[in-house]
Amino acid sequence: MTISTIRGIVIKETFSGDSDKYIIIFAKDIGKVSVFAKGARKLKSKFLAGTALFTYGDFIVKESRGKYYLDSVDIIENFYGLRNDIFTLAYGTYFLEIIDKSVPNGISENLLLLLLLKSLQKLVKTENKELISSTFVLKLISFLGFFPSLKNCVYCGKQDTKYICAEGLLCEKCLKKEVPFVKISSPTIEAMIYIEMTSIDSVFNYNLTSKYLKELGRIGYFLVYTNFGKEIKSYEFLKNLC
Ligand SMILES: [Zn+2]
Repeated sequence: MTISTIRGIVIKETFSGDSDKYIIIFAKDIGKVSVFAKGARKLKSKFLAGTALFTYGDFIVKESRGKYYLDSVDIIENFYGLRNDIFTLAYGTYFLEIIDKSVPNGISENLLLLLLLKSLQKLVKTENKELISSTFVLKLISFLGFFPSLKNCVYCGKQDTKYICAEGLLCEKCLKKEVPFVKISSPTIEAMIYIEMTSIDSVFNYNLTSKYLKELGRIGYFLVYTNFGKEIKSYEFLKNLC
């Protein structure tokens, strides 16, 4: 049995038995890892706080036959502010579910971890949660290599584009029934170019009116859905709230 430290954030929990749970940690250098936390759901468990969703910290684990067992947790940040109101929590939950469903197992991407942490911090502190959310989703798509081409129509090269599909912009003539697409406006295209080109530190520093922010959010979800083929349940919940 070897002991090691995993630095990361709890993105998912699955209950097991009466009082145990498995947590999925999105971890530095190793990506998504499943860890068994014995008795973590008991009220007096030493793991109670350390295994809650959004907990970022150092997880000390014992490894045996390829399985990880939680030994202790040093919490760095618990993102407690996310629980202040239901909107903030719903956005945070949406971020975790997207990471869980879009990042393949065995893929480690430290920039994605940094993006998630920065986005959760911004979510707690910023009023404009829609902007934080859309930016997080589109930057994630960019890091995973699925960002659409935003130059001209991807089929004919024409400049007059009013729609977007998973590959990129489309003109009216190139719309096809079998290729899913959504509408896109010029200010939204500009914002997407900014998000793709800008580093995490300043990627949230732009303005967009509410109408186009909503469009940006819809396009972000559209790209997640078309590229990864998975429904994000927390998106429906979020849409009903807003
Ligand atoms: Zn075209």
